[in-house]
Amino acid sequence: MERIHIAFFGPTNSGKSTLVNALCGQEVSLVSPQPGTTTDPVRKAIELPYGIGPAVLVDTAGIDDASVLGPERKRRTEAVIGQTDVAVVLQAKDAAMKSLLETLREAGIPSVVYEKEDTPDGLLQRIAQALPREEKRFLTGNLVKPGDKVVLVMPQDSEAPKGRIILPQVQVIRELLDRGCIPCCCTPETLRKALECSPALVITDSQVFRQVNAAIPADLPLTSFSILLAAQKGDVRTFVEGAGAIDKLQPGDRVLIAEACTHVPDTEDIGRIKIPALLRKLADVRVEIAAGNDFPDDLTPYALIIHCGACVANKFLVRFRTGKALLAGVPITNYGIALAKLQGMLDRVRIP
Ligand code: SF4
Repeated sequence: MERIHIAFFGPTNSGKSTLVNALCGQEVSLVSPQPGTTTDPVRKAIELPYGIGPAVLVDTAGIDDASVLGPERKRRTEAVIGQTDVAVVLQAKDAAMKSLLETLREAGIPSVVYEKEDTPDGLLQRIAQALPREEKRFLTGNLVKPGDKVVLVMPQDSEAPKGRIILPQVQVIRELLDRGCIPCCCTPETLRKALECSPALVITDSQVFRQVNAAIPADLPLTSFSILLAAQKGDVRTFVEGAGAIDKLQPGDRVLIAEACTHVPDTEDIGRIKIPALLRKLADVRVEIAAGNDFPDDLTPYALIIHCGACVANKFLVRFRTGKALLAGVPITNYGIALAKLQGMLDRVRIP
């Protein structure tokens, strides 16, 4: 289940860390009367009452900091805005906070202004009220109905984590069960046998699109886990449009691969190995990687941005970055859509 990200913003030494610690009931952030003690955002996963549920509390650095490290701290704090579901703002009358509240409002991110008289319980109740009440969007959207059998193709190669199934696949399996569908999991090697269940849909890992497409009837609906995730987390139509820029890439063009988290890439990494290799077959482009919060401020030098599936990030991060790319006039797509495009499959796959 996706965790609600609750970020705490305020001027340096305004008591954000003390407040986060009070809500957690334990010391999560370093508290010191010395201004600017929190340099990087500190995150704490926690289960919260009043219907909030699983959440991540994010304690940010002061954004008015004028010290040597100030600009970098400010940049990192602003990056947190892109990952925020609800913001708690301390000392809202401060000029920097007023401008932050305006930024949050423009980004459609709800904010709660912390008052000195707020108790932890009272503040949590106000956070619960501020939570965006979105209609639940199914990952599989309108692609399935109750009773449908769905074949899931999940390669268990060197890239698959040992002893477990990756998050997007777990999410889809759980959702299909919740929707009264009958998931049938297989690998590319056992796909032919799995098709005997007469599925209504095949969902595949996008790395084996071509292989799976060749093995199934041409009229059997096909999609990928990353396309489902793209549709749930971001504006999938924008990603499909953005993928059109792949056809126009010229030698020397800069392409940004944007990863939502930092992770240790392996030899089969989609963003660092597979997509760059496919891109270079088309044109001699320069591929650059931005991991975690290192998403560049200036996107204008890029001919294309390809974002990861954002499996551990929330939808605001993807929407925030998509908006930033569109404002800069740079096409943006994501791994799933880009892989479908690069494999000539974009017209074949179903998008919810
Ligand atoms: S899809 Fe993005 S968020 Fe998920 S592991 Fe890969 S880089 Fe991290």
